Amino acid sequence: MRSYVEVAINLPQISDTYHYHLPEDLIGSVRPGSLVIVPFGKQRVQGVVLDYVNTPEVADTKPVEDLVDEKPVLTPTQMTLAHQVSEDTLAPLGVCINLMLPPGLSQYTDTLISLNPGRKLDLEERSPIEKRIINLLKKRGDLRGRQMDAAIHHVEWRGVLRKLAREGVVHTQSILPPPRVSPKTVRKVTLAINPDDIANLEERLSRVHRVHDRRMRVLQVLTRESEPVEPSWLYAQADAKYNDLQALEEKGLIQQLELQVWRDPLEGTIFIPASPPELTQDQQHAWEEISTGLSKVKRGQPPHPFLLHGVTGSGKTELYLKSVKATLEAGKRAIVLVPEISLTPQTVKRFLSRFPGQVGVVHSQLSEGERYDTWRRARNGELSVIVGPRSALFMPLEDLGLIVVDECHHESYDQTDTPPYYHTASTAVTAARVAGAAVILGSATPRVTQYYKTISGDWSYIELPHRILAHREIIAHHAQRLGIDLPIISGEGQTADLGLPKVSIVDMRQELQSGNRSIFSREMQSAIQHVLDTQQQAILFLNRRGSATYVFCRSCGYVVKCPRDDKPLTYHRGSNQLMCHTCGYRRQVPKRCPQCGGRQIRQLGTGTEKVEQMVREHFPEARTLRWDAETTRKKGAHDRILTQFTNQQADILIGTQMLAKGLDLPLVTLVGVILAEVGLNLPDYRATERTFQVLTQVAGRAGRSPLGGRVILQTYEPGNYAIQTAAHHDYAGFYEQEIAYRRELRYPPFTRLVRLEYRHHDPRQAEETAQQTAGVLRGWIRSEESSIEIIGPVPCFFSRLYGRYRWQIILRGVDPTRILRDRQLPDWIVEVDPPSLL
Ligand code: ADP
Repeated sequence: MRSYVEVAINLPQISDTYHYHLPEDLIGSVRPGSLVIVPFGKQRVQGVVLDYVNTPEVADTKPVEDLVDEKPVLTPTQMTLAHQVSEDTLAPLGVCINLMLPPGLSQYTDTLISLNPGRKLDLEERSPIEKRIINLLKKRGDLRGRQMDAAIHHVEWRGVLRKLAREGVVHTQSILPPPRVSPKTVRKVTLAINPDDIANLEERLSRVHRVHDRRMRVLQVLTRESEPVEPSWLYAQADAKYNDLQALEEKGLIQQLELQVWRDPLEGTIFIPASPPELTQDQQHAWEEISTGLSKVKRGQPPHPFLLHGVTGSGKTELYLKSVKATLEAGKRAIVLVPEISLTPQTVKRFLSRFPGQVGVVHSQLSEGERYDTWRRARNGELSVIVGPRSALFMPLEDLGLIVVDECHHESYDQTDTPPYYHTASTAVTAARVAGAAVILGSATPRVTQYYKTISGDWSYIELPHRILAHREIIAHHAQRLGIDLPIISGEGQTADLGLPKVSIVDMRQELQSGNRSIFSREMQSAIQHVLDTQQQAILFLNRRGSATYVFCRSCGYVVKCPRDDKPLTYHRGSNQLMCHTCGYRRQVPKRCPQCGGRQIRQLGTGTEKVEQMVREHFPEARTLRWDAETTRKKGAHDRILTQFTNQQADILIGTQMLAKGLDLPLVTLVGVILAEVGLNLPDYRATERTFQVLTQVAGRAGRSPLGGRVILQTYEPGNYAIQTAAHHDYAGFYEQEIAYRRELRYPPFTRLVRLEYRHHDPRQAEETAQQTAGVLRGWIRSEESSIEIIGPVPCFFSRLYGRYRWQIILRGVDPTRILRDRQLPDWIVEVDPPSLL
């Protein structure tokens, strides 16, 4: 008999699992994945059952006290995935399981008990306590465990309830108690007597004639309704009041029920179902490969992951939609991951309108209750498609057939704030493997490590090389207004190949030599003026990461670097010093440029506000909008800013953030990058890759209009390969140089890294602990005769966070996780395959 179970305790500080026994009445109903209450020390806590155990570790096991929810809260595939994530990230199993529970379903759950309406009951055969429970539920509607406790004092009713649940008389499920969140209920009214009896009712419903009539009308309205109705409906129909309902209920003629309703964040949003367009030839070729892969899923042999490589606007989303459709037709379900929802509003809407009623959207701005209900609807099989950011990967969908990771290179896919520190794209691949599903990863600028997988044969590569011009009519209209010939190169039906926008690189050193000290080059100035004259729109982009951190020469472009590591030195305002965050080297800011001897050594320091101010000075007639961390702090701000811009309430959008994708902005014909190399000069091996990605994405923004879209990259380092290749839309060229650099310097994909971080409010303590731990690590490496390298310890680039000093150690090798397995580094953050070394 399966009477022992292993339980992962749902307390953040507990990483071990524990064995418990099942009392007789729970045997059979507690299964792997069940959410249970167990005694733990002096507390009663919640935990998730991992598996059955044949022989418990301890002779004297404690019992599982209760089952919170009849249905397991984790599907079998989720259980396997949790184990795998824990293995891959070195995070405790408990926190990986927590990823899969909806927020708020913490240890303070309760049970919601409801009568099974489909079940005929013969009360005579029931024991007194059973009768009492059933009558309570009949009278008061659904009840929570705590309400039941209050109603039935001093009687152990839980065991009896479990018996009723097994017989199908009642349903039980976990709920979140108030005040945090609870299933939403509405009050409804129904007749408590047979409708036919109303005609024969002899009882006066009130001494007052008028009131009697009114209450009679209430009953008559209710005889016509087959379902319980809301009180407001009765008030309107019978001209009744709250008092009337109370009086009728006291007489036992009607019943007021608390009924549960789903909170649907999409309720009330109207989506016009859009029909799929005919595929272009490129899409057709891609589709043939993908559909072959999807048919393999049906046969239980999922294909290799697909990397769908195509510039913004090349028709990737259309292929995701088609793949989801095929998946649903095969009776399976799909998860579609997008970067932050606020950056991808149109993509989400396309899924909603193509699959009306079947899509659940998860995102951080949902209330806890809305998320919880979406989670339960997914678990009940009521949703076939889940769209959302990284957390959507962990929704409980049975029969998963497809996972899509749109913009798979995006930084928001890395969880870097709390453990487990996982990476969505690779976790999606793992999840698909566990579930036997297909996975499509789409991007215009895949990470070097991702593209490398297609070269090594682990992933299949599909390319969509051309851009599609949709919305021909809108664009034709603007073209006519402006008297421009549409430069369409070739086309099929509603679509045409747009070509890529023209990108120019402006050398800012020369601007300075020619006496232009403005942050806008002459080319940029005249391009902005043209946009304003022709009532088009421009985006001015400023890379947020890395601004105001390094020091360079405005005359020759020289960046002050570490003589030992060749990494840009970081400026620290407090000490007015430069420092290397790889090796710790420090020096004063030079007065003259070491390369050209000029005196124009400056720290980079242009914020969006400054750019906006400069725009106003140069172009007083321009209407500007700012899109940065400050202006988007309020809820809904992203949407508001974008709407204003798309409605042409502004001419120039100045931003540090880029739309990840999805917005068609046909009037944006100019994208200007204020300083293209900003992100390059960060001391991180992925800095070049990130800069290339952001410049390419930014450049892709302009060309969605055939009205002459162009991109201007201003830079003091015009020769840099990231800038050059981005300007030529040359991913392959970038990859070739970058992979050579990675090979030479032994960075991923040729090695793997683990980043260990320690934080302390006392800087000396932080350093001391870091040094000590490095010593311990060296000992471990020696004892295993491992070839793992230790880099550091050094202070992190962002050296303070929340008032605490950060130090880090990097481990590098073929598998640097090996020496950390089954070893403890308490108080250290352990990040496997860190997305950033800053
Ligand atoms: P991506 O996801 O690569 O950015 P999309 O799928 O969003 O590309 O396609 C870009 C634009 O072209 C969208 O407006 C889309 O509706 C349209 N589109 C895509 N495929 C077709 C097609 N076969 N026929 C007509 N329009 C299309």
